[in-house]
Amino acid sequence: MTSGATRSESLIVPGTSLERLASGATWSEGPLWMPHERAVRWSDIPGDRILRWDAATGSVSVHRDGVEFTNGRTLDPDGSVVQCSHGRRRLEREAPDGSLTEIVGMWGEHRLNSPNDVAVAPDGSYWFTDPDYGIVQPDEGHPGVREYGDCRVFRWSARDGLTPVIDDIDRPNGIAFSPNGRTVYVTDTAASLGDGPGHWIRAYDVEGAEASGGRHFASIETGVPDGIAVDVDGRVWSSAGDGIHVFSPDGHEVLVVPVPEVVANVCFGGDDGTDLFITATTSLYRLRTSTTGAGF
Ligand code: MG
Repeated sequence: MTSGATRSESLIVPGTSLERLASGATWSEGPLWMPHERAVRWSDIPGDRILRWDAATGSVSVHRDGVEFTNGRTLDPDGSVVQCSHGRRRLEREAPDGSLTEIVGMWGEHRLNSPNDVAVAPDGSYWFTDPDYGIVQPDEGHPGVREYGDCRVFRWSARDGLTPVIDDIDRPNGIAFSPNGRTVYVTDTAASLGDGPGHWIRAYDVEGAEASGGRHFASIETGVPDGIAVDVDGRVWSSAGDGIHVFSPDGHEVLVVPVPEVVANVCFGGDDGTDLFITATTSLYRLRTSTTGAGF
């Protein structure tokens, strides 16, 4: 047995396998474990709705519809959900009482493209990607133009407002921080629509409100790395066309978990943060891991 196989096996709870928890969506994205509800919330983007899987009962329901094509989301420390809306071309907040407010939708005089995925930095700021998928794919938003002419990664905080932090990725998509917050990982999915060569994950050093030292971290060879999640030991769990690919902090692939549908995104959750929830085309899956998501 090789050391790689040993490491691979040790990341999955023995005797468990991939479980399909829900199906019936068109394109599933943006999963988030809601600890106070013990539920997973995720987007069915073309269905223009937010779905909810309840851990206690296993039931699936529509949390909200007519949502203007939400995509990725993250939990704010205050208990609200910060989410990306393609249709409203903004980052927005859904409070626990269901009220929706805009966080940011403009960079100077220009509208954002279609925010895709968001992560909270250690300083509490929101870092989000802004590719153009929601304005070039009619079933994922509304047709529009790139008003500022590019696709950036932005940082937003109440104190500093909106600032671009990464500008060297053709189509920035998934985003996640390392456990100590000193590295940010951003995926480039440009190859999916022929917008560029990107089918990889890049890494950047984070120093306060700035990112620098951009470098290649790992490539996905089947499909693209859409959403990603990081575990407590700094491994990066990436979506791909053929399943989940897991990379060590130095970028070596340590595990591949086949999934029978194209995977768009992943998040850690469950009561102890050890379950990996996987949004894959029509379905939501769960994988029991022996690690824990960063931040749990
Ligand atoms: Mg995405």
